[in-house]
Amino acid sequence: MASAEDSMTRSREKLRALDAVRKRRLIVAIADRIIAHVDELTALDAAIGDGDHGHNMRRGFEAVLQDLDALEAMGLSDLFKAIGTKLVMKVGGASGPLYGTLFLALGKALPDEPSREEAAAAFAAAIVAVRARGKSEQGQKTMLDVLIPSCESFSSGSNLAGVKETAALAADATAPMRATRGRASFLGERSIGHVDPGARSSSLMIAALCDELRKA
Ligand SMILES: [Mg+2]
Repeated sequence: MASAEDSMTRSREKLRALDAVRKRRLIVAIADRIIAHVDELTALDAAIGDGDHGHNMRRGFEAVLQDLDALEAMGLSDLFKAIGTKLVMKVGGASGPLYGTLFLALGKALPDEPSREEAAAAFAAAIVAVRARGKSEQGQKTMLDVLIPSCESFSSGSNLAGVKETAALAADATAPMRATRGRASFLGERSIGHVDPGARSSSLMIAALCDELRKA
């Protein structure tokens, strides 16, 4: 049986480093997943927001895809910062600054070759930055309702399939919530019954990331 000490040692081991090819695949996987779900994100945002989330996210990730050659050559830290900067510039709406903040903060906190523990700490630091930027907390029917449980799942040692599952369930769990932040909060009770578009786009990104990292 593995001791607590063993698992602590494991969590401090460096994760497998990503070469340029795998960095490129990872970025493409996340961008393609979002772009493949543009209509769904648009429909979710049309129900409780202004219907622009799908198109905003597509604009941002199409811009990211145009920079693949430069991005794949960067260290992990600069790569995340560059994506964050691009998303801030291109996505617009409320989600541009929030996703931009998420990626920028990840870039600031991530060493180029993180251990699992360091990756978890960077994820947690990025969530703190998003909470501050959005002045929001868990339970308000936002992307945080996916990011926080996903981070907790990863930090507690779940494998990538488990983190992906947590993210998907957490996005679904925003449906019965009443929005108290963001445009959906203007709807009050009428925001109940719809999955939050930002929660869904966050779960799509986490799913794409987990699927890609699980590949050998
Ligand atoms: Mg919107």
